[in-house]
Amino acid sequence: MKFMRLGHGEAHHLQCQQARQHLSELLEEKPQLTPALIKHIEDHLAECPPCQKFRETFLATVQALQAMPAQEVPARLRQALKSHVERFPSA
Ligand SMILES: [Zn+2]
Repeated sequence: MKFMRLGHGEAHHLQCQQARQHLSELLEEKPQLTPALIKHIEDHLAECPPCQKFRETFLATVQALQAMPAQEVPARLRQALKSHVERFPSA
């Protein structure tokens, strides 16, 4: 059993921010992420419950926005996802 002891450290906070930014890129139409970077994100998610929760809510946000009229989606999707990334609490 592995325990996370990073707490509220700044380095871990940065990891979360990066992971979430990349996660949002993964859901865009043309992700620029390399397989190594995707692996890095998956590794972080596996060890970070807050980011796992973030992914769940992020996907729910995407799905809710996809139910909107098509012509409104791109700009509002980008804005909503950006604010979600910025506001979601970190570990
Ligand atoms: Zn995290």
